[in-house]
Amino acid sequence: MKATFDLREGWVPHPFDVLCRMGGKPRWTTFIFLIVSVLSAVGASAQKDSFSKDNPSWVQPFPAFKIAGNLYYVGSQDLAAYLIVTPQGNILINSNLESSPPQIRQAVESLGFKYKDTKILLISHGHFDHCAGSAQIKRETGAKYEVMAQDIPVVESGGHNDFNYSSRESFWFPRTKVDRTLHDGDTVSLGGTTLTAHLTAGHTKGTTTWTLDEQDNGRTLHVVIVGSPNVNPGYKLVNNKTYPQIAADYKHQFEVLSKLPCDIFLGAHGGYFDLHEKYERFKKGDTNAFIDPAGYKAYIADRQEAFEAELKKQSANKH
Ligand SMILES: [Zn+2]
Repeated sequence: MKATFDLREGWVPHPFDVLCRMGGKPRWTTFIFLIVSVLSAVGASAQKDSFSKDNPSWVQPFPAFKIAGNLYYVGSQDLAAYLIVTPQGNILINSNLESSPPQIRQAVESLGFKYKDTKILLISHGHFDHCAGSAQIKRETGAKYEVMAQDIPVVESGGHNDFNYSSRESFWFPRTKVDRTLHDGDTVSLGGTTLTAHLTAGHTKGTTTWTLDEQDNGRTLHVVIVGSPNVNPGYKLVNNKTYPQIAADYKHQFEVLSKLPCDIFLGAHGGYFDLHEKYERFKKGDTNAFIDPAGYKAYIADRQEAFEAELKKQSANKH
């Protein structure tokens, strides 16, 4: 089981790495490149601080494909985005990075659907890797942006109100007006499909896990799109002044997630549910590749264990 964070540290080129890739030839360009690399290494803390938006798996495209029924994958290699296609237009979950909308558009069109048919835009949570593209997608499609109440201040301030990252400019994103406020248990319906918004807070104050049912070859499949159960590096679980109830919210999240019926296990990042491995099986004809109730349970249990270990550590240190 891989430990996954939602905002991972970016790759910083190491000077020796650069030299090796240049064949070690003592050319002046090598020297300049080395100087630049050393400077970039010196500035590594700044780059790491930004959890680089150039994380390759976040920006590299992934083939769009049908998961089940009217549910499609339209994200990148790791930043998941989902399209739900209905006769009254489509629902998109996650707008990803500020640079992602053209990629999402390309994915939607590669499936034969119209990007402009996007009527409703939803997110997993208000971090830039899932919601920075929302302003552009709203502008281009006219979609209604529907967000969990507790994440609205973050989304509408472009990350300036984030309980943990408010002072980190690299985490900011275009401010986006929300058109409908969602609360725990609210439903979003369009063209015969209904999704339920489950407040599963902790990672952000309004982290949302989406569920829906898909009819597939005469059977009903319960789909869970996990919002994020992860405790990011630097999160204060004890005596958190900007988010006092953070630990209680995580505990509540695990109670909710452990009770959700799940056949198809999905999430905000492909890494949560082994997208690549399952897609390989799917491509070879395994139509059940994404049906993984055991994987869901194991993932939630693993993340709960990680949360509890971190809480124990921080409680002992009395931060
Ligand atoms: Zn996140």
